[in-house]
Amino acid sequence: MSEKIEFVKCLIIGSGPAGYTAAIYASRANMSPVLYQGTQPGGQLTTTNDVENFPGYPDGITGPEMMIELQSQAKRFGTDVRDGWVTSVDFSGKIHKLWINNNKEIHCETVIISTGASAKYLGLPSEQKYLELGGGVSACAVCDGFFYKNQEVVIVGAGDSACEEAHYLSKLCSKVTMLVRRDVFRASKIMANRVINTSNIEILFNTETHEVIGDGQVVTGVKFINNLTNKISEIPATGFFVAIGHKPNTEIFKEFLDLDDTGYIINKPGTSKTNIDGVFVSGDAADHVYRQAVTAAGTGCMAALDAERYLASLE
Ligand SMILES: Cc1cc2nc3c(=O)[nH]c(=O)nc-3n(C[C@H](O)[C@H](O)[C@H](O)COP(=O)(O)OP(=O)(O)OC[C@H]3O[C@@H](n4cnc5c(N)ncnc54)[C@H](O)[C@@H]3O)c2cc1C
Repeated sequence: MSEKIEFVKCLIIGSGPAGYTAAIYASRANMSPVLYQGTQPGGQLTTTNDVENFPGYPDGITGPEMMIELQSQAKRFGTDVRDGWVTSVDFSGKIHKLWINNNKEIHCETVIISTGASAKYLGLPSEQKYLELGGGVSACAVCDGFFYKNQEVVIVGAGDSACEEAHYLSKLCSKVTMLVRRDVFRASKIMANRVINTSNIEILFNTETHEVIGDGQVVTGVKFINNLTNKISEIPATGFFVAIGHKPNTEIFKEFLDLDDTGYIINKPGTSKTNIDGVFVSGDAADHVYRQAVTAAGTGCMAALDAERYLASLE
């Protein structure tokens, strides 16, 4: 039997840096926010060990520790943090309706979407093994490239982001080998030329990852296969970067919100506003460019301020 409908002034979906920052601002502004954590409490950062680029932590901090601190800060000001997954929404009326776990119905004046995005991986068992061990597999060059300074790394991907990440790594690493599945890049010419013209990037076309190899703890190399000749070769590497795209967690909103071709929510420029009044977006769910904890937190702040102003305008 479904529970009684609850009325909420400000509902925040997601418990990453965007959601918790929105919660800190909303609770301090007396908006009594309720935050649903989803199936990944703490968000993407809970899958990484060292966060060294978030301001305020001169010695770095682990991702899980940082997210516990953000949660405590949000709770300190009264955010109601709950377990639960938003399974569907109805943004067709003035009051926004959401359902939690296909059961509980909530009616809200404002909604802040902070559902993030998930990096895509190849899905090879060896890749997943070293990803889970934190032993040298990463989907974020800007986040983790620094740990591979003066080392040899491999990057997989052929689009603009892959080229940008390969170029970023080339400034830190002694050698970057780029594995490209087809005989051409998917990236724009200008981005492709940038990697082609970088002396310490080697591009291997018609090449796919066969296996990420390691010593049981950390990555030591990559086996790759030429998909024209089926020849398998091996190169040494301490880092394996996957740059084959991200999937924003926005499926449940697509009936009501404007999304771009890849599913990112489109916000009104310079704001967190969506095409629906009272529905705001923050963090990676609307950001295919920066995808950093600090930018997610910044837009979480914007969403809470925009929501607060919207509520004031209703009064
Ligand atoms: C391995 C790795 C290492 C990284 N390292 C760094 C780093 O060192 N520095 C840095 O700045 N950035 C780093 N990043 C990027 C950073 O983690 C993200 O940019 C940031 O977490 C985005 O924050 P967010 O709040 O938008 O979303 P996320 O952190 O993705 O959180 C999304 C939240 O939404 C919830 N959710 C999703 N759908 C629903 C739903 N339907 N109902 C309820 N809840 C839902 C999830 O459970 C989750 O809590 C790293 C990312 C990865 C994957």
